[in-house]
Amino acid sequence: MKRDSYQTRVIPVMVPMPAERPYSYAVPDGARVEPGAILRVPLGPREVAGVAWDGDGEPIEAKKLRAISEVFDCPAVPADMRRFIEWVADYTLSPPGMVARMVLRAPGAFDPEPPIEGLRLTANRPDRATAARERVLACAADGQAWTRSGLAHAAGASMSVVDGLTAQGVFEKVEIPPRPVVAAPDPGFGRAALTADQSAAASRVREKAAAGQFSVTLIDGVTGSGKTEVYFEAVAAALEKSRQVLILLPEIALTQAFLERFHDRFGAKPAEWHSDIAPRKRERVWRQVAEGQVRVVAGARSALFLPFRELGLIVVDEEHDPAYKQEDRVFYNARDMSVVRGHLGNFPVVLASATPSLESRVNADQGRYERILLPARFADAALPELRAVDMRKAPPARGGFLSPVLIEAMARTVERKEQALLFLNRRGYAPLTLCRVCGHRFQCPNCSSWLVEHRFRRQLVCHHCGYHEQQPEACPECGALDHLAACGPGVERIAEEVDRHFPEARTIVLSSDLMGGVKRLRLELEAIAEGEADIVVGTQLVAKGHNFPLMTLVGVVDADLGLANGDPRAAERTFQLLSQVTGRAGRFGKKSTGLLQTYQPEHPVMQALVSGDAETFYEREIAERERSGLPPFGRLAALIVSAATRAEAESHARALRGSAPATGEIEVLGPAEAPLALVAGRHRFRLLVQGTRRADLQAYLRRLIAAAPRPRGSVRVQVDIDPQSF
Ligand code: ADP
Ligand code: ZN
Repeated sequence: MKRDSYQTRVIPVMVPMPAERPYSYAVPDGARVEPGAILRVPLGPREVAGVAWDGDGEPIEAKKLRAISEVFDCPAVPADMRRFIEWVADYTLSPPGMVARMVLRAPGAFDPEPPIEGLRLTANRPDRATAARERVLACAADGQAWTRSGLAHAAGASMSVVDGLTAQGVFEKVEIPPRPVVAAPDPGFGRAALTADQSAAASRVREKAAAGQFSVTLIDGVTGSGKTEVYFEAVAAALEKSRQVLILLPEIALTQAFLERFHDRFGAKPAEWHSDIAPRKRERVWRQVAEGQVRVVAGARSALFLPFRELGLIVVDEEHDPAYKQEDRVFYNARDMSVVRGHLGNFPVVLASATPSLESRVNADQGRYERILLPARFADAALPELRAVDMRKAPPARGGFLSPVLIEAMARTVERKEQALLFLNRRGYAPLTLCRVCGHRFQCPNCSSWLVEHRFRRQLVCHHCGYHEQQPEACPECGALDHLAACGPGVERIAEEVDRHFPEARTIVLSSDLMGGVKRLRLELEAIAEGEADIVVGTQLVAKGHNFPLMTLVGVVDADLGLANGDPRAAERTFQLLSQVTGRAGRFGKKSTGLLQTYQPEHPVMQALVSGDAETFYEREIAERERSGLPPFGRLAALIVSAATRAEAESHARALRGSAPATGEIEVLGPAEAPLALVAGRHRFRLLVQGTRRADLQAYLRRLIAAAPRPRGSVRVQVDIDPQSF
């Protein structure tokens, strides 16, 4: 078929590839394609799903021009979402195609779900009545459409009974529309009676959600103050305005209790979105979010890229949590991008935390965010009394890691039939194994990290690349037998020590190594909440968002652990993590205690925790950042150069450095070996690019990268805007 080339309509299509701009495609005659439409297009030898973009397609040689294969019968990606994709790409220096790819991650959802075949009672009666037939008829008497198996099951009859009746015309076949993945939430369902503080806060966030304009509110309330109850009121207000809502949570897969609470308040569960949802379910959620059938999503950071049709509120719970940062392909912080999304969509964003990030605190102090304080726990529950256990004065017994002070407190807790939690953010048995004869240390062959002993699995494991080997009996270096020593504790080793002291107690170890994955973890968390454990030894998995009614003692095994790495953010992070962990205790009115085992009780983080004076701590940290021009008072990006050999990585990093244009506002530091210099066989160097608050870091980085030689061979350059550690 011949066609006049300039009559062919050419449109831009964003394809899920590292493409810097949309590709041009021809629209077949008669096809209607709106911007945002999801299309199937040929790409090299394959076909992919892409998004019709705005404007005209760039002119392209007629013989290279290929036509769209199909316009999916699927809601379009809304305009504010398209602007969001462009914004994120621009900010993170990622190809927009790769950001669009994050939106298009549910391929089966682009075709409408086929209706289910159903059966409905007709006026015909069966030729002969049997007990089973009577039961089926009684069930179907409601006049609803039933599935064949659903009806058989409900009636306690076999499917052949149902089939027999259908054959006789007692049932007619009808189409049942796809079932919603969740029922519709009702904003007026289980309204809680709020305390005075809570209701003042709630009416503020309600007003904002109802106004339906961009704003950012920071709910800064101690653990257990009822932040969730408060932001639920904002959710209700958005629902009343017929807007969709997104609630981001850092560990949604493990916070099943959250779904229950939501159900209690709104009479239906939110749709869940995270990597543990089965593919088919994900596709249905995606589709129904796009269609507007799903009104509320509770999800992990990737939920930010769902194609909401009429999003009107984002809540970011535990907004300080490092889990919001993605450091893979597109490096982005979901908290920051939520604010951007709210701005582009002109709707309010609510951030909640007991220990806000310094960024959010400063934004509040400078008036960009409204800060709402909830200073007290709900129902007179007192915050746990925190004490530092000076490990120099009360050292553990030989070979142990628990101070007698902590063991004594645990004994009293167990006697009272309450629960104790020992927190140590280290998986496995021991973080380092060495040979006592020759000093050999077991290191990962692919990474610059020690192999961690996992005694239950009898393996040495690398926590960075997953490398593992059978736990050896002899030293590979000197051959000495039985002289391998485990150095330092992991949770498994602490559990062993607990067993020695409390052989009668029911002890649970919780870490991501637990066999049985997320399902098993959920069950264990439920068991703990129901009092089926006396002592819990866990990593940060137990720190987040759980309510354990019987927990009255939290012991932090090594409170200094996060402070050692020299990162300017270390103090902030440690303060946040330890506040959150100790905040698990005493949420239901019982008097509770947190014990911090430390070698530096005078450290400002320990002082802040023990005194409960977070304000002074924040002021100090903020002043320190301001003095050194670090975020949020300056801007920062990291360039990570990796390669198969150290020499290649280093030489490209130096070349980048050499290409850095000189400006007064921006300084390039490094290159230096990255904090983890070798990961999964790749050597890494890092440059830090530090600018003033007004500096256009992105423009500068683009110039720098363009001026530098193109990476060759195994060399890769990754840009990390607003890196987690600096
Ligand atoms: P936060 O998110 O601030 O840590 P939560 O919202 O989880 O606090 O509340 C802590 C506990 O107190 C929860 O079990 C919650 O159900 C309960 N709670 C808080 N406020 C109320 C209220 N107004 N009425 C009933 N229960 C409440
Ligand atoms: Zn490794």
